[in-house]
Amino acid sequence: MIIQLEKGINNELRNSVENELKTLKYKTTSVKTQYGDYLIGTGKKAFDIRKIGHIDGIKDIHVVSDDYKLVSRKWKVNRTQIDLGDDVKIGDGVFSIMAGPCSIEGEKNIRETVDFLKENNVSIMRGGVFKPRSSPYSFRGLGIDGLKLWYEIAKEKGIKIVTEVMQVSQIDEMHDFVDMFQVGARNTQNYNLLDALGQVDKPVMIKRGISGTIDELLYSAEYVFSGGNERLLLCERGIRTYERASRNTFDINAIPILREKSHLPVIADPSHGIGIRDYVDSIAMASTVAGADGIIFEIHSKPEEAYSDGQQTLDLGESERLIKRLNQLRELLNNKE
Ligand code: PEP
Ligand code: MN
Repeated sequence: MIIQLEKGINNELRNSVENELKTLKYKTTSVKTQYGDYLIGTGKKAFDIRKIGHIDGIKDIHVVSDDYKLVSRKWKVNRTQIDLGDDVKIGDGVFSIMAGPCSIEGEKNIRETVDFLKENNVSIMRGGVFKPRSSPYSFRGLGIDGLKLWYEIAKEKGIKIVTEVMQVSQIDEMHDFVDMFQVGARNTQNYNLLDALGQVDKPVMIKRGISGTIDELLYSAEYVFSGGNERLLLCERGIRTYERASRNTFDINAIPILREKSHLPVIADPSHGIGIRDYVDSIAMASTVAGADGIIFEIHSKPEEAYSDGQQTLDLGESERLIKRLNQLRELLNNKE
């Protein structure tokens, strides 16, 4: 059950709502976000919500039977839109393209990517500065200095940044230099990190865990929301299955299912999803048809020289073609809606 409280509700009224729920054997959790004040009630036995509906200070009550509640569409029918400022928005009808190298490699790499994105009207650049790598001997990112340099160049050109945060201690140092935090597939169930991101007033894009179910992704998002941050996006990036012909098995099913279960925008990552350069385009297009609110993919001027994930990275010509095709497809879909 989600109880939306009136803005600025006084403690006395808040206590009376909580006490009433306790008498009904409901456990209550207070959640205060950028936009709302909520009381989450969890209990075994359903009751007639009119029993508490009369209490002053309650704006609305929603019965949400799912274990994840705030991210559920059962109480919030309108889709969430993420506003990054400067008219850069994601979701609720606004389709978004995000592109950039797997890892940020240095000034030349940043500048050529930023210039490419500008030329192609893409406003959000992806890239890793803290890289989770399977082998400790692989390139692990330029760290905070790389992020600062990237931010300076991107800001100058009006490009927004999305980048992965790997641990709680990095949040503060990164905060002023990112527009959106990314939680990587290896960290989707790092609950300390999710709790800490709940305290941050920047959007967070959460990737599906390597072997994570759709529900587990929603629970991860629930952690951040219930921690106080409702500016969230979900990202399907493929899961590990028995199939070895592709890097991961991109779960196209997850796109409509996530959009049905949750009001949060759903982003597709075809690069990690299939892991093969030649097919990134097809999976990106398929995801768009399936209803994705945006596509994030890896690009590089010379993919064969990329510090990481070159095998799934599009060169700039291929990227330009994909961006054009995605925009055309969106137009076609919009006309059909
Ligand atoms: C990435 O986007 O750079 C990345 C490491 O992706 P994932 O967490 O999905 O593996
Ligand atoms: Mn990558």
